[in-house]
Amino acid sequence: PLVLGIETSCDETGIGIVRGRVPGASGPRGRHTLLSNTIASSMDEHARFGGVVPEVAARAHLEALQPAIEHAVAEAGIRLSDVDAVAVTSGPGLAGALMVGVGAAKALAVSLGTPLYAVNHLVGHIAADVLDADAPPLEYPTVALLVSGGHTSLLLVRDLTRDVELLGETIDDAAGEAFDKVARLLGLPYPGGPEIDRAAAEGDPEAIRFPRGLSRASDMAKHRYDFSFSGLKTAVARWVEQQEAAGAAVPVADVAAGFREAVVDVLVTKALDACAQHGVPRLLLGGGVIANRRLREVALARAEAAGVTVRIPPLRLCTDNGAMIAALAAELIAEGRAPSTLEFGADSTLPVTQIQVAPRAVV
Ligand code: ATP
Ligand code: MG
Ligand code: FE
Repeated sequence: PLVLGIETSCDETGIGIVRGRVPGASGPRGRHTLLSNTIASSMDEHARFGGVVPEVAARAHLEALQPAIEHAVAEAGIRLSDVDAVAVTSGPGLAGALMVGVGAAKALAVSLGTPLYAVNHLVGHIAADVLDADAPPLEYPTVALLVSGGHTSLLLVRDLTRDVELLGETIDDAAGEAFDKVARLLGLPYPGGPEIDRAAAEGDPEAIRFPRGLSRASDMAKHRYDFSFSGLKTAVARWVEQQEAAGAAVPVADVAAGFREAVVDVLVTKALDACAQHGVPRLLLGGGVIANRRLREVALARAEAAGVTVRIPPLRLCTDNGAMIAALAAELIAEGRAPSTLEFGADSTLPVTQIQVAPRAVV
C-alpha cells in the first residue's frame, strides 16, 4: 500500500511517501520502500528569535503544505489518487503547528476516500529505522534514545506498533534546546547544535568540567533515566560571566567542547544504564541531535565495550520528517490495525505509550 505521511509538530513541514511492506512477501515487496521524503523547514524564520516561535511555525506549515505534497507526489512518481492511506502526527508537539497537519490530513483522507492513521511523533522517530534498507530488521526489545530540540526521551520498545514504555525524559530543557541556548550565550548563531559541534572540534573537552545533570547517587531512586540540562546551561553561563568579569577572553572552543562532553556523557551513560538494567543489548538512537559527531562516536565506543549493538537511522530520517510518520502507519497497516476515526485532534502532550490515536482520541 502507498502511504502518505504528514508531519507538522515543530518547524519542519514533512511529507513522506512510503510503499508499505506486504506481510509474508519476500524480496523488495516484503520491505518498506521510501519513495519521497520532502521537507520544508521554517528554521531560518526562527533564527533571529533563537528558538522556534509557535505562531510563525504554524503559519509556515500552512504555506508549505500544499507545495510540499505536490513535490512529494512528483518525486515519488505517483498520482495523488494512487495513495492508499494517509498518516499524520497527532502529537506531541506545538498545538498550532499540529493542528495544521491534522486538518490537512483529514481533508486529504476524506477527499481521496482513504483510511487515516493518526500517530505519535516520538514513535515515528523510532519507525524511521524501518526505512533503512541496508539494516537488518529491528529486533525487540530495544532501548531507544530520542534527542531533539523538543525532546530528550529514553524508551523501552518491546514492539513498535504495540508496546513502547517511557523510561525517562528531560525534566526541563531538551538536549537540542540546551545546545541552542548555550550557542546563543557564546554568541554563535541558531541552530546552535551544529555551531557548537564545529567549535568544540577545536577545543579540549577536559579543559572545563561542567556538571552532569541528575547523575548523583541520590538522583538514582527517582530520576535514574531522567535528564536535566538547565543546570548545565546555567553553569556555562556563570563560567562565561566570571571570565568576562575578570577581563579574560572566553575560550569558546573549550567551553563548547566541555559543554558538549557533559551532554554526550550523560546521554550515553543513562542509555547504556537502561540497556544493562533491562538486560537489553540493543540501543536505537534518533532525533536531530544525533547529527552530533561526538555523540555518535561516544555512543558507539561505549556501547561496543558494553556489548550493546547501536542502530542509527540515516541522518536525514533522524530529524523531523513525514517519511517516518508514513513508515509507522505502514507498519500498523502491515500488522492489520484499524485506522483512526475522524474525531481525533491535535494532542500537544500525547503520551509516548499511545502509539496510534484510535479509535477515539483525547482532543
Ligand atoms: P522535535 O523536538 O519535535 O523533534 P526539533 O525541530 O526541535 O523537533 P530536530 O529537527 O530533530 O528537532 O533537531 C533540531 C535540534 O537538533 C536543534 O536543537 C539543533 O540545535 C540540534 N542539532 C542539530 N545538529 C546538531 C549537532 N551536530 N549537535 C548537537 N545538536 C544538534
Ligand atoms: Mg526541527
Ligand atoms: Fe521530532
